[in-house]
Amino acid sequence: MLKMVGNTLINYIQGDITSEKVDAIVNAANSGLMGGGGVDGAIHRAGGHQILDECKKIIANIGRLPAGEAVITGGGNLPAKFVIHTVGPVWHGGDRGEPQILKNAYFNSLKLGSKHELESIAFPSISTGIYGYPIENACLVAVGSVSDFLKSEKHYYKEIRFILFSEKDYLYYKGIIEKII
Ligand code: ADP
Repeated sequence: MLKMVGNTLINYIQGDITSEKVDAIVNAANSGLMGGGGVDGAIHRAGGHQILDECKKIIANIGRLPAGEAVITGGGNLPAKFVIHTVGPVWHGGDRGEPQILKNAYFNSLKLGSKHELESIAFPSISTGIYGYPIENACLVAVGSVSDFLKSEKHYYKEIRFILFSEKDYLYYKGIIEKII
């Protein structure tokens, strides 16, 4: 079922984010921005060295990227024009600010995209792989943050997509989107 917030379509698909043809895909990166495992590794492998070269320049300028913040690079060989790199929280049980940091990661990625007048953006499920954030809580934060952003900030988004790698994750997002949007 397709859901709208204002004029923006909220979409959710099971798939591989590196194939998404959108203005930007979001990378669940780590603070060093040097690539890694999971979705980060997949994006760098598919996008080629151009993305890593830009990440290295960013790190040389700003130092490590704090959790909850976001930066943007070109999309290299990807179908997406840009990659927005953000860092989610590592899950330590939930009382070290993890929900707020995860919320910021989505919100700041959207804010950076709207600064670049992007009309479509695709998110993976940030922090729910190697970083261990429980999916049932993370999807609530993710969808809530996107919804808050669309209601409160100036933007150009026509579509926001959640790309879920597994069927289990897809079903969690579907449940939450149908319930709260
Ligand atoms: P984190 O370190 O933020 O937990 P991971 O990459 O380990 O990041 O996992 C985040 C989510 O991305 C997980 O749900 C994982 O299954 C998913 N994922 C891994 N590869 C891809 C991909 N190619 N496209 C979309 N999602 C992916």
